[in-house]
Amino acid sequence: MKIRHQVSDALLLDYATGVLSEGWRIAIATHLALSPQSRRRLALMEMAGGALVRDLPPEPSPLDEERSWMALIRRLENSKTQDEAPPPGRNPQNAASVVLPEPLRSYVGGDVASVKWRPLGRGAYHLPIAVDDKNTMVRLLRIPAGKPVPEHGHRGRELTLVLSGSFRDGEALFARGDLEEADETLQHQPVATEGEDCICLAVTDAPLKFRSWLVRAVQPILGI
Ligand code: ZN
Repeated sequence: MKIRHQVSDALLLDYATGVLSEGWRIAIATHLALSPQSRRRLALMEMAGGALVRDLPPEPSPLDEERSWMALIRRLENSKTQDEAPPPGRNPQNAASVVLPEPLRSYVGGDVASVKWRPLGRGAYHLPIAVDDKNTMVRLLRIPAGKPVPEHGHRGRELTLVLSGSFRDGEALFARGDLEEADETLQHQPVATEGEDCICLAVTDAPLKFRSWLVRAVQPILGI
């Protein structure tokens, strides 16, 4: 699958139309808090949605809809709007003090300093986050600097949002605010970059497929 750093159009559209369950919504809303580019795309999507309802002829062909949608996306990508100011989390004055933006912060009950980490082994930690939907597993992960996540595949969707530090997945580098979207087609082994632990929000809808038998053995105990 194609590696990207912002939420995909399909997932953003599901978010905008309110069909996503709570776990996915937390990840995307928190990503939006950190990504001006994704906020612009959402605003455009909402405008386009309003325009579709208002202006479309009674029987639009799917091809016309697709063309006008692609034209809007191209215009957005080419446009330089004034919405380039960094979000509050990247403001130099409070970047150090705010790691977890809303809505995630409320779910955790404070910022990262108040997190009661639970050990996962090999220096990694997690914090499961309770949500009301029955479909998703939501957790904060802390991967030690320079260390890998055990190699794994996926039985469903996995969203990983970087909140602090960064990780590499193959050639791609994911830093604060970046969202990686994985599915059944991706087998990977993200590695936290040197110098700083990587803190991420991870949301899945099925247990991961770990390659190591040892990790598979402890998987039910850890609930990953
Ligand atoms: Zn994964």
